[in-house]
Amino acid sequence: MDIHEYQAKELLSRYHIQIPRGGLAYSPEQAAYRASEIGGERWVVKAQIHSGARGKAGGVKLCRSDHEIVAAADGMLGQRLVTHQTGQQGKLVSRLYVEEAMDIEREIYLGFVLDRKSERIMIVASSSGGMEIEEIAEAEPDSIIRATVDPGVGMQDFQAREIAFGLGIDNALIGRATKAILGCYNAFVDYDASMLEINPLVVTRQGDLVALDAKMSFDENALFRRPHISEMRDKSQEDPRETFASDRGLSYVGLEGNIGCIINGAGLAMATMDMIKIAGGEPANFLDIGGGASPERVAKSFRAVLRDKNVETILVNIFAGINRCDWVAEGVVKALREVGVPVPLVVRLSGTNMEEGRRILAECGENIIIAETLAEAAEKAVGAWRAHTANKAD
Ligand code: GDP
Ligand code: MN
Repeated sequence: MDIHEYQAKELLSRYHIQIPRGGLAYSPEQAAYRASEIGGERWVVKAQIHSGARGKAGGVKLCRSDHEIVAAADGMLGQRLVTHQTGQQGKLVSRLYVEEAMDIEREIYLGFVLDRKSERIMIVASSSGGMEIEEIAEAEPDSIIRATVDPGVGMQDFQAREIAFGLGIDNALIGRATKAILGCYNAFVDYDASMLEINPLVVTRQGDLVALDAKMSFDENALFRRPHISEMRDKSQEDPRETFASDRGLSYVGLEGNIGCIINGAGLAMATMDMIKIAGGEPANFLDIGGGASPERVAKSFRAVLRDKNVETILVNIFAGINRCDWVAEGVVKALREVGVPVPLVVRLSGTNMEEGRRILAECGENIIIAETLAEAAEKAVGAWRAHTANKAD
């Protein structure tokens, strides 16, 4: 789960990370009011969306007057901001964060991730901040410092100090930088984060070390014990298809194609998506309904898949080991009757009680295309999709 920049900054400010003074605004008037509360002569108006790279997309505006703040806020609020991380549909800007502007002397990159290979939290830092880490890795690979933390002892002072020295931070700021790096590590662990990024962390002309931007993501499996974090969830920033599915306990990832998939088992789902592609189609989603696919779960899956308006055919592919094909078939029939499926439906059932399952589908009186093998299922789905779109075009 991701949170907004202002939320991440608020969390980090409790861990020895200095942040600019700022306030949240929901309207241009409020943005101007926030600036007057903060005082000073230059402010930054920042679109709060779950994405980086807002600066290049017009979501970060430096302002020198009330008038400029109102204009910047007016231009952002209610719009969908498209960055190269959001996809072309962009993300809705409904909150702004107004901050005092900083005089930047230098920009540093500081990131914390869970490194699966070493099974440890890894710190990634670079003296070439401001750019995204992928760009730094291309342009300045030698500037990147990496360190991992032994979970048994946690991050040690000397490690943080080594990173601070490696970044070429002035002697006068080494102590503060060390504390800030340790603070990030502690926040990461205390809140079950999966990613934390301060980019840029800046040294100001006044000699302060300030987090100008902050990004945090959290392990969803741990949210139950972090109510303070789960309250920060902003569903308006998430893919509505995925929110609908995850609220109902389905494992779903939205994709760009037209063939909706309802499959049990992640491996079978991946294989089915490959087969759809080989047959010349594009999957609309990954959906694993899990082992115990009850008729209710099958009906829920149909609802989730059909929320995606790009879906023009559905392929159900179930291998019943623990499950039973006759139950799945009942679920499919129930879904067809309750949910209404306005697109062609291809079903392949294999495993326990498959004859009984196929009989239920064949005799239910609904229009179902039955397939026996995975390859046949994918070909029939793509064929049905082509016929369906050709019909629509006529
Ligand atoms: P991002 O594009 O989504 O990563 O948003 P950031 O918060 O990182 O802002 C993008 C860029 O805007 C930063 O890298 C800075 O160069 C610039 N910026 C943001 N805040 C300030 C500020 O207070 N003063 C100045 N001079 N530049 C700023
Ligand atoms: Mn940034």
